[in-house]
Amino acid sequence: MLALWLLAWSLVSCAKSAEHRVSRSRPRVDEPQQTVPKSTKRGPSSPSSDEQPATDRPIQRSAAARVDQRGTLSITFFDIGQGDAALVVTPTGKRILIDGGPPEGTNALLSALAERQIDRLDLVLLSHPHLDHLAGLRRVVERIPIATYMDAGYESTSPPYRALLQALSERSIPVKQAKRGRSIDGGGGVTLLLLAPPDPFIDRSRSDVNANSVVVRLSYAGHSVLFTGDAEPETERWLLAQYGPGASPPPETAGLLAADVLKVAHHGGKYSSTATFLSVVRPQLAVISCAAVNDYGHPTPETLGRLEKVGARVLRTDQLGHITLRSRDGQAWEVDTQPATPESPHATPNPRSGKPAKDEL
Ligand SMILES: [Zn+2]
Repeated sequence: MLALWLLAWSLVSCAKSAEHRVSRSRPRVDEPQQTVPKSTKRGPSSPSSDEQPATDRPIQRSAAARVDQRGTLSITFFDIGQGDAALVVTPTGKRILIDGGPPEGTNALLSALAERQIDRLDLVLLSHPHLDHLAGLRRVVERIPIATYMDAGYESTSPPYRALLQALSERSIPVKQAKRGRSIDGGGGVTLLLLAPPDPFIDRSRSDVNANSVVVRLSYAGHSVLFTGDAEPETERWLLAQYGPGASPPPETAGLLAADVLKVAHHGGKYSSTATFLSVVRPQLAVISCAAVNDYGHPTPETLGRLEKVGARVLRTDQLGHITLRSRDGQAWEVDTQPATPESPHATPNPRSGKPAKDEL
């Protein structure tokens, strides 16, 4: 076991990590070693359990890249450029990958998974078949044994998506449909409830592929995390109608949108994260996955302003690198960050900058 830990630490890059704890007072994210508990309802935070291994020479270690331990829920939002990829490791050690990032982020994703000794995945979940979410998955499928793959089942003829399905088929990996209402037991008290894609599928929206994203609510010991893919305003309206405070009739589903962590839809695009939706979710932490320089102007000032209005503390992969949230037994989230590595797409930024060159996809 010690050998495994030493290996893990020795693989870690020289990047230093910052560790924070969540606070309702919305502290600056670049303040190191914050230890303010998030709220009184969560109980006190425990000290970080990683300890420097005994060794003759100093080893730079990163808390964000440490091998996660049993009894702790960890969620890492990878810094893979303009796209999404997040890894959930449950307290019983189940590993769930949600999206696989864009083509230029694939090496960074594979490296980050190797650093964390991810040699199997219990579930790979694709939010929607756009390249910035699926491109890295084919190589993940080729390298790492996967128990189950799941997506919305929304029809797509895109060659990378077809290639992904082909790779899954060649390895006889079960492909399941992510249907609304499906509940996945992550072990250790973690449940993933699929709130969307809408049923029936939304059509005639600005982007029906986005609008029919899989939306996942992860719950664990009083915490809740909402993964929204690239949900559109139509998706948010549908979610509010199904699960919002005014939903009717089933009261047991009202309140399912409230979450202390929100993976912000569509990289902070201006159309999503409407004020009404955010006022119901009321996230304390809002994670945005995007490239430092991108053609869409993500995240947009409009969405950042709306997040600020609901008091969310924004964590951005383009500014912080890999972002890991951890909770043990439902205690306050610890936030670890691991700055960009040489493999990160941010290391060679696109020279185009300034005004968005393209409207949002
Ligand atoms: Zn996207």
